[in-house]
Amino acid sequence: MSEFLLELNDVWRRFPSGDEEVAVLTSVSLQIRAGEMLAIMGASGSGKSTLMNILGALDQASQGNYRVAGREVSHLSKDELATLRREHFGFIFQRYHLLPHLSALDNVAMPAVYAGMPLGERRERASYLLARLGLAGKELFRPSQLSGGQQQRVSIARALMNGGAIILADEPTGALDSHSGAEVMRILKELHAAGHTIIIVTHDPAIAAQTERVIEIRDGAILHDHQTTSAAVLPTYQEPPAVRRSGVATWARFMEAFKMALLAMLSNRLRTLLTMLGIIIGITSVVSIIAIGEGARNYVLNDIRSIGTNTITVYRGKDWSDDKASSIRTLVAGDLKALAEESYVDSLTPETNTTLRIRYRNIDTNATVSGVGESFVQVRGKNLIEGTGFSADHIRQQEQVVLIDQNTRRKLFADGAAIGKVILIGTVPAMVIGVIEVKEGGFGNSSSLQMWLPYTTAGSRLFGRSYFDSLVVRVREGQPTALAEQALTQLLQQRHGQKDFFTHNIDEILKTVENTSRTLTLLLTLIAVISLVVGGIGVMNIMLVSVTERTREIGIRMAVGARQSDVLQQFLTEAVLVCLVGGLIGVLLSYAISVLFSLFVQKWQMQLSLTAILLAFLCSSLIGVLFGYLPARNAARLNPIDALARE
Ligand code: ADP
Ligand code: MG
Repeated sequence: MSEFLLELNDVWRRFPSGDEEVAVLTSVSLQIRAGEMLAIMGASGSGKSTLMNILGALDQASQGNYRVAGREVSHLSKDELATLRREHFGFIFQRYHLLPHLSALDNVAMPAVYAGMPLGERRERASYLLARLGLAGKELFRPSQLSGGQQQRVSIARALMNGGAIILADEPTGALDSHSGAEVMRILKELHAAGHTIIIVTHDPAIAAQTERVIEIRDGAILHDHQTTSAAVLPTYQEPPAVRRSGVATWARFMEAFKMALLAMLSNRLRTLLTMLGIIIGITSVVSIIAIGEGARNYVLNDIRSIGTNTITVYRGKDWSDDKASSIRTLVAGDLKALAEESYVDSLTPETNTTLRIRYRNIDTNATVSGVGESFVQVRGKNLIEGTGFSADHIRQQEQVVLIDQNTRRKLFADGAAIGKVILIGTVPAMVIGVIEVKEGGFGNSSSLQMWLPYTTAGSRLFGRSYFDSLVVRVREGQPTALAEQALTQLLQQRHGQKDFFTHNIDEILKTVENTSRTLTLLLTLIAVISLVVGGIGVMNIMLVSVTERTREIGIRMAVGARQSDVLQQFLTEAVLVCLVGGLIGVLLSYAISVLFSLFVQKWQMQLSLTAILLAFLCSSLIGVLFGYLPARNAARLNPIDALARE
């Protein structure tokens, strides 16, 4: 091990300037022992700060060797450099470089976050240091509430937070009045006495004269290096008190990132809100659309189910497109009787429809007239709101009775008294015995007029035929529809001698409806997702601005030892937080919309599902990570000296 703590050997630092490079440091060689107090002196622009940045591992030499405690710095990774700064150096800047939105205490404690010191211990040490520097009682003051001298003392406390064995002070008194300047020098001398190695950059000979060694540089080269105090003083060097390091405390670092993200959001409220707007709109539309889709689907499905999920309809022909279907005459009353005896059949009805002229007194209109069986009301899940349905006798004796729907009653009977009245259907008079409720919404034209006659009456008197258009079978509760359909097909095929019919059960319709509504929801969701992406781009935009605005803050954090990952985490946390809060507002808005919706639409409701809400939060975080990553990475990749130089 070398006897020197810091050792520069033929160090050059060049900066690109236009197409060329300028050498700001030209072959600097320098050795510094632990416990020294020295001044680097020179005119403005001579390269003092550049040298200081290299000494503090904020910047790296273009050429030459630099060793800290025997360790070559040029081989270190960015994270190792951060560790080096954190564990060995404490920086004091001319302009203090405190974070304006943090209290004095939090400013001082900040370096320890990256060293992994637990919160309690951090607070304790920070207030101890503040008290030691004469700032007791000022812990919760913001930098703007403190004088220049006080701010510089806060920054000295910060430099000591992680130990600060080597204090690098760049023009520490440059911005201070002479009294405060003298105070800072007194503190630095005290620290020197306590064993800290102190390196002060200054252009002021009076400051330099207070140290033990003055290194004068001009145009990037060392001009003089003279010891003003006898070297005999040096061996009394004592290691400054060590600070316990707890290593990597992921939680503490996350909490710091979280706190900073909250602070950043709160200090730019309007901007944060505008940034969130895209996310809010996106999430609100996604959640609302899913809720509307879900509500509408359930409404339609319930409507279909109310007809009875377990019905099978038998149609004539091979399928819907069979041209010959209308000439098939095999669906007859015998089928009805045979099916009624099957164990899986609960009830069934034939159906034959036609449109006819109907008349009552002076009212003359068109209506859909169907011939049905006695179980029609039950099979179709209809509601009788007045009167009775058909009896077996009505059917058997071909009685001229009719069931009408509400629309027909309204159309024909102004006073609403329909039961017992006789209306003329085509040429057949029939007496109204019951009124059937019209279900709103659902399928079919709700204003059309419908009426039902016994199929025997309709067949013989109106249609002049005894075969049916279709049969509707209600499957007994608990019987599997598919099996019933199979048995039914077999039976009818046997009876007809061929398969001149096809069946359709309501399960298939349900499936179709479900598929249709799913496709629709998917489509609308896609549109909503596009708005989310637009929102995400908004977040990225603002995060990029935020990184640019806070470049100096990033530089300060890096100077006190924040790793690249810490900076990345901080900005990523901010992006995710913005998105998550946006998502939360979006979900709340969707809820408000659903409440509003239920005030205007009574028949069905939006159904906010937990899945949709979880999805919304997942989406928000994902967008935060996705669109926050680029700005956060930009921040993490900043060079500490460039970041610090930015005003
Ligand atoms: P001092 O601190 O002694 O006033 P600096 O070390 O800050 O001087 O700067 C020395 C010279 O190097 C100046 O001429 C300055 O313009 C130049 N310089 C410093 N940093 C950079 C940089 N990042 N890029 C280009 N030139 C730089
Ligand atoms: Mg300078």
